Amino acid sequence: EVNACIITIGDELLIGQTIDTNSAFIAQELNKIGIWVKRRVAIGDNKEEILNTLTEASKENEVIIITGGLGPTADDITKPTLCEYFHSKITIDEGALQNVKDIFSKLNKPLTGRNLKQAEVPDNCTVLPNLRGTAPGMWFEKDNVFYVSLPGVPNEMKGLMQNSVAPKLKDSLELPAVVHRTLLTSGIGESTIADVLEDFERDLPGHIKLAYLPSYGMVRLRLTGRGSDKEMVDQEVSVQFEKMKPLVAEWMVADSDISLQQAVSNLLKKLGKTVATAESCTGGYIAHLITSKAGSSAIFNGSIVSYSNKVKENVLGVKEETIRNFGAVSEQTVKEMVQGVLSCIDSDYALATSGIMGPDGGSVEKPVGMVWIAVGNKNNVKAAQYKFRYDRTRNIEMTAQAALTMLRG
Ligand code: ATP
Ligand code: MG
Repeated sequence: EVNACIITIGDELLIGQTIDTNSAFIAQELNKIGIWVKRRVAIGDNKEEILNTLTEASKENEVIIITGGLGPTADDITKPTLCEYFHSKITIDEGALQNVKDIFSKLNKPLTGRNLKQAEVPDNCTVLPNLRGTAPGMWFEKDNVFYVSLPGVPNEMKGLMQNSVAPKLKDSLELPAVVHRTLLTSGIGESTIADVLEDFERDLPGHIKLAYLPSYGMVRLRLTGRGSDKEMVDQEVSVQFEKMKPLVAEWMVADSDISLQQAVSNLLKKLGKTVATAESCTGGYIAHLITSKAGSSAIFNGSIVSYSNKVKENVLGVKEETIRNFGAVSEQTVKEMVQGVLSCIDSDYALATSGIMGPDGGSVEKPVGMVWIAVGNKNNVKAAQYKFRYDRTRNIEMTAQAALTMLRG
């Protein structure tokens, strides 16, 4: 097994100003190519701290990836620190220099000495060209450990990680073949699935693992197999995957690693059907989720964000007495919202949401988190009530996921 340590550098990470998304991304990329991330550490822009962490990490890892602190400002000290650690001298890398010049001429900005410093690199590293920014990546080898230093800017780090670091690690190390197969379930909790899959999981061969990855009312089930022969692992994982599918068929939304909205949109495309939304408490969020996928015009017509009762009545044609008698958050209202939006926006299906997302509002009968969702067509509408108990953002997210799950059903 090849072990890795990810070190993210920057005072902003320690004070919580920047959320460390880099190490999650790098961990995923390493995981894909069969490298086990043993540790992730965030440290400040501090020379001693960087040197100590590198020394410690090199004792139990063959791969060390660090990000951040490569910029031209005084607080960025990663490069001089690496020079000290690897006993390097500074040289100018011609490729990196040309890259800096190209970037500045494209931006039409004057080039300062500070910017030119970005082309300075330790003489004993391999330079990894950064097409998205001025600071190149740097690859070192010392005592059978590979060290990679990447810029902190997430977009630049990602480009380097995917285009040079991962391929180079694959070439340089003997890595096991890793195969993932993922399926998406909705409408069932993690622990319930774990019960359903208890026997299946116990009987899995040792080199295939099942992971439960829950988020927003959905659970992804991922089988991961490792071995020396890629084709064989692939086949073994497929066999187990096909065994697992019927066990969770009732809740399965997709048999690949896609989002719920993508699964819904795929299904509608296959059926040649369209959908519209009438959104009160989700404020157009479901429309946003659907349209965030390219090609959604084939299945999505539009949305009416009917946040106020006036819009529910005047635009969607919800009856005034329905709202007076049952309230805006009621089965009757969301059902009328579905019919209303279907007559405004000609579509095969529509969905409607109305609820109390919090933190304020709500009553004993209709507490914060209570939502009514309706889904249907001109002839047949079904509605369901949910009670979520999270903060506003999460309640909205849960409502959207529940509505998409109902639409899929
Ligand atoms: P630059 O050349 O832009 O100065 P750099 O290599 O010096 O790049 P930093 O100065 O550490 O990198 O960070 C640059 C930007 O990237 C900042 O906006 C910072 O918030 C962000 N960033 C740095 N580290 C991380 C991280 N671990 N996760 C997410 N974002 C990060
Ligand atoms: Mg910087």
